[in-house]
Amino acid sequence: MIIYDTKLEKKVELRPQDGRILRMYTCGPTVYNFAHIGNLRTYVFEDLLRRTILFSGMKLLHVMNLTDIDDKTIRSSMAAGVPLKVFTGEFAEAFFEDLRELNIQPAEIYPAATDHVEEMIGMIDSLLNKGYAYTSEEGNVFFRISKFKEYGALSHLCLDDLKVGASNRVNVDEYDKENLSDFALWKAYDPVNDGNVFWEAPWGRGRPGWHIECSAMAIKYLGETIDLHVGGIDNMFPHHENEIAQSEACTGKCFSRHWMHAYHLIVEGKKMSKSLKNFFTLRDLLSKGYTGREVRYLLLSTHYRTQLNFTFEGLDGARQTLRRIDDFIDRLENIRGKSENECDVTALVSELKKGFTEEIFDDLNISAAISHLFDFIRKVHSENDLGKIGEKQAQTVLAALKELDQVLGVMEREQVAIPKEVNQLFEEREVARKKKDWALSDKLRLQIEGLGFVVEDSRSGSCVKKKLD
Ligand SMILES: [Zn+2]
Repeated sequence: MIIYDTKLEKKVELRPQDGRILRMYTCGPTVYNFAHIGNLRTYVFEDLLRRTILFSGMKLLHVMNLTDIDDKTIRSSMAAGVPLKVFTGEFAEAFFEDLRELNIQPAEIYPAATDHVEEMIGMIDSLLNKGYAYTSEEGNVFFRISKFKEYGALSHLCLDDLKVGASNRVNVDEYDKENLSDFALWKAYDPVNDGNVFWEAPWGRGRPGWHIECSAMAIKYLGETIDLHVGGIDNMFPHHENEIAQSEACTGKCFSRHWMHAYHLIVEGKKMSKSLKNFFTLRDLLSKGYTGREVRYLLLSTHYRTQLNFTFEGLDGARQTLRRIDDFIDRLENIRGKSENECDVTALVSELKKGFTEEIFDDLNISAAISHLFDFIRKVHSENDLGKIGEKQAQTVLAALKELDQVLGVMEREQVAIPKEVNQLFEEREVARKKKDWALSDKLRLQIEGLGFVVEDSRSGSCVKKKLD
């Protein structure tokens, strides 16, 4: 499997360093509100990556953190008058609901920052001892960037660029640094803004900075050198750059062998922003009648290193595409027995698998992988005409689709419960059809349609389904 490594700026082969288990870290959510579609794009990409790694036969240990200590979680929990852990717990639960809705496979471990402050204090202590960090008069601890010569190697920025960037972002926390680009490892306790959220450290009371959270948890669960670190491109600088500086200064070893970043998402051609009101959460989209599966397909189908323009037209397009797949699967599932002049799909199936895997293993080339799938559907559907496929061939095709869906995760449909009333009408219609009472059968079909369901008759029998818009 080949990936594009952002630090090396080239494609490389992905392999576990220990030859057994690939160790992957992905930056998780800050649990103070609902994830927006920009965040969800990154999580869906990481899920495609996770599934592709597993599909390639590698074993995987995947850790995703929950950031439950930072300015936003503390301020928001205080504004809500709810203890920090309770407040963030609710949003963590909402995050897991989103993952389930989007059919995202869970990581092996979801460590929360609040449970790992001891490890963070240990790392900061070691950085202080080695001279990579200093305490300020106010009781903050900062990382001394000038001492870490490789700073900027990930984002390919030089320190002079960073100083210019940093000077635009000076805030109250930054006034007592030696150097403007130094970043906080530890923030001194502020009774006005921090309420009762603080931990005791050898250099004073306070709380860890955001960046050290990821370093401490990645190292604790994955070791001093991990195989792959993944996140959104907006986190590359300064967050990931800072993770590297802290970790490598502390351990003296390479922090992550490889880095991957998902590009931005824009909405209807514009940058997402609160003022444009083009911020959507998954809940917003579900309440507009879209399904998690449709949102997943849309977020998935643009290559992760391309800017994704999220539009409602695109979401409708995803719905149409999934219906084509569903329709294909339905027809295959309804094929019974042998067909006269049966055609053989084996060659088509192996061509599909070969094409799809070659593309997906090439840095998740999703567009090309999906086009192999649709070429295949078209060929089986039209050129061979489903009429020439018997049950055994149909099952071969279905098995191939199921195999590829281990990677895509889009083919399983949400279960729609059929109301009792509809089922009853359907059964009455079956009886009418057996008696060849076509008038009654038609009348019952219309009644079923009036309730929002449709009856489909095929050579293998009839079934009832939810009517689609
Ligand atoms: Zn992180």
